[in-house]
Amino acid sequence: LHSPVSLIFDIVYGGSITIAGELTWALKKSGNIESPLNAFFATGNIFSSSGLGLLQDKGLTILAENINRMRYMSHFRSVHRGAFFQEMRTSEPRQLLPEAWGFICPVHTPDGSPCGLLNHLTKYCEVTSTPDPKLVANIPSLLTSLGMVPLKGVSLIALNHNEHYVVLLDGQVLGHVEKREAQRLVDKLRILKIDGKRVPRTLEIVLVPMGRKCGQFPGLFLFSGPARMMRPVINLAAQKIELIGTFEQIYMDICVYPEEAYEGITTHQEVTDTSFLSSLACLIPLPDCNQSPRNMYQCQMGKQTMGTPCHTWHLQAETKLYRLQTPASPFFRPGHYDLVGLDEFAMGTNAVVAVISYTGYDMEDAMIINKASYERGFAHGCVYKSEFIELKSQKSYFGLDPEQPELQASLDSDGLPHPGTFLKQGQPYCCYYDDDEAKFHVERWKGKEAMYIDNVRLCGGLSQEPTKACIVFRIPRNPSVGDKFASRAGQKGICSYLWPEENLPFTETGLIPDIIFNPHGFPSRMTIAMMIEVMAGKSAVLHGLVHDATPFRFSEKDTAIDYFGRMLEAGGYNYYSTEKMYSGINGCELKADIFFGIVHYQRLRHMVSDKWQVRSTGPIDVLTHQPVKGRRRGGGVRFGEMERDSLLSHGSAFLLQDRLFHCSDKTVMLLCQTCGSILSPVVRARHRGGQYEQDICCKVCQENGKVEEVEMPYIFRYLVAQLASVNIKIKIDVMEQ
Ligand SMILES: [Zn+2]
Repeated sequence: LHSPVSLIFDIVYGGSITIAGELTWALKKSGNIESPLNAFFATGNIFSSSGLGLLQDKGLTILAENINRMRYMSHFRSVHRGAFFQEMRTSEPRQLLPEAWGFICPVHTPDGSPCGLLNHLTKYCEVTSTPDPKLVANIPSLLTSLGMVPLKGVSLIALNHNEHYVVLLDGQVLGHVEKREAQRLVDKLRILKIDGKRVPRTLEIVLVPMGRKCGQFPGLFLFSGPARMMRPVINLAAQKIELIGTFEQIYMDICVYPEEAYEGITTHQEVTDTSFLSSLACLIPLPDCNQSPRNMYQCQMGKQTMGTPCHTWHLQAETKLYRLQTPASPFFRPGHYDLVGLDEFAMGTNAVVAVISYTGYDMEDAMIINKASYERGFAHGCVYKSEFIELKSQKSYFGLDPEQPELQASLDSDGLPHPGTFLKQGQPYCCYYDDDEAKFHVERWKGKEAMYIDNVRLCGGLSQEPTKACIVFRIPRNPSVGDKFASRAGQKGICSYLWPEENLPFTETGLIPDIIFNPHGFPSRMTIAMMIEVMAGKSAVLHGLVHDATPFRFSEKDTAIDYFGRMLEAGGYNYYSTEKMYSGINGCELKADIFFGIVHYQRLRHMVSDKWQVRSTGPIDVLTHQPVKGRRRGGGVRFGEMERDSLLSHGSAFLLQDRLFHCSDKTVMLLCQTCGSILSPVVRARHRGGQYEQDICCKVCQENGKVEEVEMPYIFRYLVAQLASVNIKIKIDVMEQ
């Protein structure tokens, strides 16, 4: 980053400059390396004049966001191919090629433009560190003892390349080995590699065989360096775990199950049949029963779930944290869930779900939530926000302004609020004396929502007065109409109504669903795993169990439906998990049996309270005089071309004019009827009889001009002015009405 650093290296490692003064100078100059590195880690941007030979200088770090455990975990395992590929038209960088299989998860990638570029490592994949240098130095002599002819004294050009493999370690030629000896050498080297005592365990051994018509250059390639991806597989000859790399994988035969192994060909076996999935994909219940994109959606939505990101709520000082008040452990979950201890950071709740089309409030992914369940605390949550108030000088202090006695109502005598105080917009939460300006400052709550003071902490040394206060706000966010929920099968929905319990359908045992899910959500999405979960959740509750939802646990011969169906029968329920239900409105029995059970639902962080937008009048753009966009600035919602076409097709011309003209950039302009220009009329001030009067006239036509006032969109004037700059005149004909 800084040239003086290389200067120091010159000095330390035998450079020519040895004068002490220059050494001190260099050290002084290079002392600044800390702040560029800090800035790099904070922003992910590199500032350099040379460019450092990088394809991109922005977005080189990923911020580890702790919205919930899933997101936090996956951020440490994500890999980005680079922003450069995002604009590329070819799909090749996005494909999961054979060398990436088992290292990169095929499921855990977003859809849209970063698809296949923002990837995640599989659960067992590891990235190598620098190996023991002694072991690496040992490799050449070891290879010689195993049958390699060292480079010394042998000309490679003179070799018959059809009979010999060249041996390279980290790109450096070590020697050659005879063709018939090569496989034996590789096998022996693998045994030593598994052992790890004489050869690093992270050594990659690639024998690119001869005799292929087109392909990679034959040879024995060895890699020992750091920052390579490796994953464990079972070496069938040694019956032990071996780490393999991306390059060697494509020349290996790896089976998934032992019965698939071919005698004499298959050398390795996968550790488990789910080892090609990332940690997050392994948390989806029965992903093998879902249509593939649904699993991708769940990987995205799992990371947006409200949950339990931390346990130190009273100590944390994050800018924003989401919390679910009553999280529950799912009844139907893969073994990986317990392996990563996700119950410690629980998210989501178990909901009683009826799959029924009831009223019109469950159309198109909308879902009805039982109002009584909501009142009992279903999916309640809150958002924590922290704010820091820093005193600028030593003589400043936190305290109440004696001239504002009304502050005492909400603030303590030290100028800070009581924990638990309820505050609305504009109410004060902190008061301090600023010595620089010699006056008191009052901080007021700017958010539109009401909130509680969760806790107040003072920061500073023990010997001096505190100079910094951290105030944590708690904003209640209980479910409301418009909030987003999703099951773990990529089935998202918006709450459309908090329906009174007495009007919802009920079963013969008197059970009333928490959530009503529309059956039309199933045929097109094909999320069979969610249907299985309905049955599994119900049978788990009946028998007091937690069911295993590890992928590939069931097969065509031994189906999940049969397993859970028989379990439901044993509990006295219908084999297919359907139940007789009665209308909540008139008490009549519903003709169809209703699919009824328990599903684990996630509450997503997208809430209407953060998104609602409304505007009558407000700020406009300086250039176009049209309303600005953006919720924060009080802007409008865009009424675009598609919306325009929609209104045109309905024939609602007045509404269209209202949206695009009256509520947008309507202006009164002056137009000269004689020359038809809107640019030439001007307003002048004229002195007449001791008073100034407005005089409107056309600059071009002078006395002949007949200037009228016309309503027009302001953007039209802008267009006319632009065209005038390239010598195109717009002439407007107007008629008296
Ligand atoms: Zn004119």
